[in-house]
Amino acid sequence: MDLVLKNARLAGAEADAAGAASLTDIGIAAGRIAAIAPDITADAEVIDVSRRLVSGGFIETHIHLDKSCILDRVASERGDLEEAISEAAKAKLAFTPEDVHARAAHTLEKAILQGTTHMRTHLEVDPGVGLRSLEGVLPLITEYAWAIDLTICVFPQEGLLNNPGTDELMVESLKRGCRVVGAAPYTDSDPPGQIDRVFAMAREFDVDIDMHLDFGATADNMDVEHVCRRTEEFRYGGRVAIGHVTKAASLSMAAFEAMAKRLANAGVALTVLPSTDLFLMGRNHTQDHNIPRGLVPAHKLLRYGVNCSISTNNVLNPFTPFGDCSLVRMANLYANICHVGKKADMAACFDMISRRPAQLLRLDDYGVAVGKAADLVVLDATSPDMAVAELTSVLYAFKRGRKTVSREPARLHRPACDSPWN
Ligand SMILES: [Zn+2]
Repeated sequence: MDLVLKNARLAGAEADAAGAASLTDIGIAAGRIAAIAPDITADAEVIDVSRRLVSGGFIETHIHLDKSCILDRVASERGDLEEAISEAAKAKLAFTPEDVHARAAHTLEKAILQGTTHMRTHLEVDPGVGLRSLEGVLPLITEYAWAIDLTICVFPQEGLLNNPGTDELMVESLKRGCRVVGAAPYTDSDPPGQIDRVFAMAREFDVDIDMHLDFGATADNMDVEHVCRRTEEFRYGGRVAIGHVTKAASLSMAAFEAMAKRLANAGVALTVLPSTDLFLMGRNHTQDHNIPRGLVPAHKLLRYGVNCSISTNNVLNPFTPFGDCSLVRMANLYANICHVGKKADMAACFDMISRRPAQLLRLDDYGVAVGKAADLVVLDATSPDMAVAELTSVLYAFKRGRKTVSREPARLHRPACDSPWN
């Protein structure tokens, strides 16, 4: 053994029938979980996690490293999606590989410090930015392999069929090592045509698909059915994810239920991006009444068998001028907005930043179980639902058994007994 985590609580084993907490030790050898049992003794480094929750590391399925941290270069007057795309497009013209690399590394490090051990970053190519963002982000895969598994999903933010030259850049990106292909049909002159072309690229390169989809304020002209049809036609179930789908927030419950069953049967997963969706949606409403929020209630989709993840999306840019890269915060934000209050639903929110995105990314090597990679976080919480409810902090992160992050729990410094404050 190289490392033993003592007195750990595991998700799903917070308490036995009598209500007593069941604790265990986790032994790690050669980067993998070698044993899960009480009282492991070994000639190894020992970290007593003092009855805290140990989980698989957090998994970000949808973030944009390439355009993070550009708030000082853009305007955000209207705060809507169209303005965000156009401002980011202007800023992208001045991107250099070095500039992208520095900003992306900064954001990546923040994510690592928040306990994220796996990440799919979406990255845009088009004739304006060329491959400069790719050249900036690609080296990070090896530079940060010690802490995180990073994969790139290339996509056409400014349209594909309407934007000559973009197709060739996407194909070149797939040749250079992007392992997922994405889409943004809502910016295309022919949304179904873009979806079809992206499916063709995915099949040619045998890569998974992760699309921005149905990002809008009303439920008109949704593309989700088209994606489900193609997923079934090409037997791509389990390899397709869609993000945002804010239009679904305006569906009647009957239509929402039908969509849920359709997604589940086709094997299409869904990612909610609470921070961006709340910031950008609802801008079309006038100021004389309350503004509805545009976020799809993913925890209800889970009940129909749809796999879902919660992810960060944008960081400090015109799409989302917030960002600490904390997936726990995202889960808490989601729970708060979607009226999640029951313990089981709160725990499901935790699952949507850990084991469910692992399934979305088809990570066979993930989880707190003997034989799995020791990609773990120690949280200052006693259970997954409380980790979400209390916005817990990450006290340790481990990548393949090596400690990558540590953080002291906050401490109160009480006044001495003879202090005048007592
Ligand atoms: Zn996105």
